[in-house]
Amino acid sequence: MKLKNKVCLITGAAQGIGLATALRFAQEGAIVICGDIKPEAVDAAAAQCRALGAESLGLVLNVTDRAQVDAVVAELLARYGRIDVLVNNAGITRDARLQKMSLEQFDAVIDVNLRGVFHCAQAVADTMVAQGAGVILNASSVVGLYGNFGQTNYAAAKFGVIGFTKTWSRELGPKGVRVNAVAPGFIETPILATIPEKVITEMQAHVPLKRLGKPEEIASVYAFLASEDASYINGAVIEVSGGMTV
Ligand code: NAD
Repeated sequence: MKLKNKVCLITGAAQGIGLATALRFAQEGAIVICGDIKPEAVDAAAAQCRALGAESLGLVLNVTDRAQVDAVVAELLARYGRIDVLVNNAGITRDARLQKMSLEQFDAVIDVNLRGVFHCAQAVADTMVAQGAGVILNASSVVGLYGNFGQTNYAAAKFGVIGFTKTWSRELGPKGVRVNAVAPGFIETPILATIPEKVITEMQAHVPLKRLGKPEEIASVYAFLASEDASYINGAVIEVSGGMTV
C-alpha cells in the first residue's frame, strides 16, 4: 500500500497506460480520480478501481480545455481538500512526415501532449505548494529522447515535456513537490493501432528483451515515482523501454 489515501489524478485514464496506472494506484491504496474525454470508459475505469477496494471517481476531463481542468481540480479540492499526485498521461498521435504534416495534425498533438500537461500542472501547482508536498509525473517517450520518423509533432511535445519536468523540478522542488517524467518505449496499447505490423515487428527486434512492453510495466514505475520510495528522485526522466535505445 505505497499510496494509502493519496489523492491521485490520472489523465487519459480510460484505457492503455492510464487505465493500468489507475488500477495499480487503486491496488496501492490511493484515492483514484480517473480523467478522460471518454465518459463511459472513464466511468468504467473508476468502477474497476472501486472493484479493487479503492475510492475512485471517473470525471470527464479534456486536458486541452483549461476551464474544465480548473473545474475538475476545484471539485477535487472541495471533495478531498488536497491533491497529492498528478499523472499527466493523456496523449495522442497524428503522424505524418515533415513535408506531409498538416497544421491541424501539428496543433492537435501539441494541444493535448504539451499544452494539456501545462494546463494540468499549473492547475494543481498552487495546491501542492501550499501543502508543501506533491508529485507531478509526466508522460514523455523514447521519442522525446531520440525523435522518430513521422512524428515531428509528437517528438516536439515529448521533448517539451522533459523541458517542463526539469524546469518544474527546479521551481517546485524547494517547496516539497517532486516532478519526474517517464519515457516509455513501445508499449502494447491502442495508441500503436495506427503503426503497421511490419514496423512493430522491426521495433521489437531492436529491443534487447525482444518484446513490446505492457501497460502494467509503465504503471509500476509511476506507482514507484509517486510513492515515498522515490523521495529523492526529482527532475529525472526514467526510460522504460526494455533497453531499446542501448
Ligand atoms: P492510449 O491511446 O491507449 O490512451 C490515451 C488516453 O488518453 C485515451 O483514453 C484517450 O481518450 C485519452 N485522451 C486523448 N486526448 C485526451 C484529452 N484531450 N484529454 C484527456 N484525455 C485524452 O495511449 P497510451 O499508449 O496508453 O499512452 C498514454 C501516454 O503514454 C501518452 O501520453 C503516450 O504518448 C505515452 N506513451 C505511450 C507509448 C506506447 O507505446 N503506448 C510510448 C511512449 C509514450
